[in-house]
Amino acid sequence: MESLSNRSKVVSNRKMNLWEKIYLPAVIIGLSVTIKHLFKKKVTIRFPEETRKFSDIYRGKHVLKRDDEGRERCTACGLCAIACPAEAIIMVAAERKPGEENLYREEKYAAIYEIDMIRCIFCGLCEEACPKEAIFLTKELVPSEYERERFKYGKDILLEPVDPGKRIDISKRQTKEVLEFKKDKSKRHNK
Ligand code: SF4
Ligand code: SF4
Repeated sequence: MESLSNRSKVVSNRKMNLWEKIYLPAVIIGLSVTIKHLFKKKVTIRFPEETRKFSDIYRGKHVLKRDDEGRERCTACGLCAIACPAEAIIMVAAERKPGEENLYREEKYAAIYEIDMIRCIFCGLCEEACPKEAIFLTKELVPSEYERERFKYGKDILLEPVDPGKRIDISKRQTKEVLEFKKDKSKRHNK
């Protein structure tokens, strides 16, 4: 039958000669390839002792931010979940009760907020969609796990600490390009 790709090869059924039967030349060729790689620059690193330099625009684990007074910024509007192409975000909204003004910035907050890190493709669209600057992607890696359930990150993992000294300064990780993009975006919104 004629080949469509012209890449087909005719397979020979001829008998192997003595050298081919003892496989010695094939073993020597294989070993030479291995030995050649011993002297080449290694492409692997000893993670986690060593880490690679990440790109300035690398996106890793998410963080749910607090405002300057330590209150949760997220109002459970759901825009991040709608923007997420991987449908990785789920949340349950709740009403703020009197006396909880020091915990939540607005009348509504996310009682449950969960990101499935297996689904997430770290595209950053949730960060772009958020009108409250409540969710950001950090440079932190998502560690490997043995169980799928452990990749569902709830508020216990995502929410940043109350202690201001331990909070992540997102502005430091934003490159000039990202800041310019955000400036353009807000200009477009104000038109
Ligand atoms: S980074 Fe992208 S895929 Fe991951 S949760 Fe945000 S929007 Fe979804
Ligand atoms: S993180 Fe932002 S976009 Fe997502 S629900 Fe909270 S306020 Fe809305």
